[in-house]
Amino acid sequence: MVSSGRTHPRYRYGGRFFGRRVNCEHVPMLPAQVVAGMLDDPRKIPYLLVWKSRSNGTAREAVRIAACNETNCPDALYWLAGVEIKGHDGTCNFIITMLRRLPRNGGSVRLLICPYCSIPRRGLYGWKPSGRFTNSVVRSTWGCRKCSGLRFASEGGALLIRPRGTLGLVFGIGHSPRPESWLPYVFTSTEKAVEAGVL
Ligand SMILES: [Zn+2]
Repeated sequence: MVSSGRTHPRYRYGGRFFGRRVNCEHVPMLPAQVVAGMLDDPRKIPYLLVWKSRSNGTAREAVRIAACNETNCPDALYWLAGVEIKGHDGTCNFIITMLRRLPRNGGSVRLLICPYCSIPRRGLYGWKPSGRFTNSVVRSTWGCRKCSGLRFASEGGALLIRPRGTLGLVFGIGHSPRPESWLPYVFTSTEKAVEAGVL
């Protein structure tokens, strides 16, 4: 029933999972799209990102993102632009982004390269599971969902009413709607965030 050597052993009882469980939907997500918008902004200004509590609207997390090379960015650096993510607690992370060409329409999409696994991702997460409770979190270096040890809410049977047969799998019968990612409010200055009542 209990695996050895883990601070938080995993229990299985009746097919349910009782180990550490932090769902990525409850962790601030930095979307690659927002970083792309900041890098492509002709004003070349840093953006302030604020994640508000979904229960009471207070600011739970805030970072300032800025391009590392704001002036005369050569083409090569545009394709692999670096971004600085400054936390309000003084921490500073450096993330590399990359433009990936889309095969169909000739367009491209910017992705954030996870500093742990080096895989380009559509979003990175700022907290990871740690601490006293199985669902408690601590602020961490921004990493992808996998490297941050986060789960989707639908994993492990949390939201899934086991579908029966192929039709259930194909049409998702019995699935509760997946909670949405915790996305930031985006501001171009602290003043604007204050005006909006977010800070
Ligand atoms: Zn990763």
